[in-house]
Amino acid sequence: MNLILFGPPAAGKGTQAKRLVDTRGLTQLSTGDMLRAAIASGSPLGRQVEGIMKRGDLVTDDIVIRLIEERLPQAEAAGGAIFDGFPRTIAQAEALDEMLARRGSRIDLVIRLGVDEEAIKKRIAGRFAESGRPDDNPVAFEKRLVAYNRDTAPLLPYYEAQNKLVTVDGMAPVESVAAAIDAAIDGPRF
Ligand code: AMP
Repeated sequence: MNLILFGPPAAGKGTQAKRLVDTRGLTQLSTGDMLRAAIASGSPLGRQVEGIMKRGDLVTDDIVIRLIEERLPQAEAAGGAIFDGFPRTIAQAEALDEMLARRGSRIDLVIRLGVDEEAIKKRIAGRFAESGRPDDNPVAFEKRLVAYNRDTAPLLPYYEAQNKLVTVDGMAPVESVAAAIDAAIDGPRF
């Protein structure tokens, strides 16, 4: 089973993805984590993306598509992937559909964490100091939100048209969000 966790920055995608790794054995494929690991290792890719990420801009589609493609066999062996922070553009979504189709697979479900952006901004503002992420600051965070609304939100109709989109209340307590995600995964599929 392949799932996409969808939502703006700081909606709680990473937290929920990690829980699904623990409870379902799926592989979390977070392009943000992969890019941060590349930066930490000092690789050429890391040096290439460091400034872009720090500013809160999106890295190019070809970079993240390649990272995901490299990890698909591993996810397949685990029984599927939870895509977290990917795809973020229509081009990425189309590439993902093609890569999976070539492997005889598909996206089964897209779970959108519905959140109130103003509330998210307030929630994250209190955590900037302790986050340790260079893109967790007011200027970069605002850019990440702009990028989400401009480039990523258009994926909602894309997946809605494929009848794969469910929305859960991402403002609820973390355990309630988890329960709603479980219900979406285990419930009748549309
Ligand atoms: P995240 O951890 O998902 O919030 O991603 C952190 C940053 O990594 C983003 O603000 C982008 O700079 C970059 N990034 C992660 N995933 C993608 C993606 N799918 N497409 C473009 N840039 C990405």
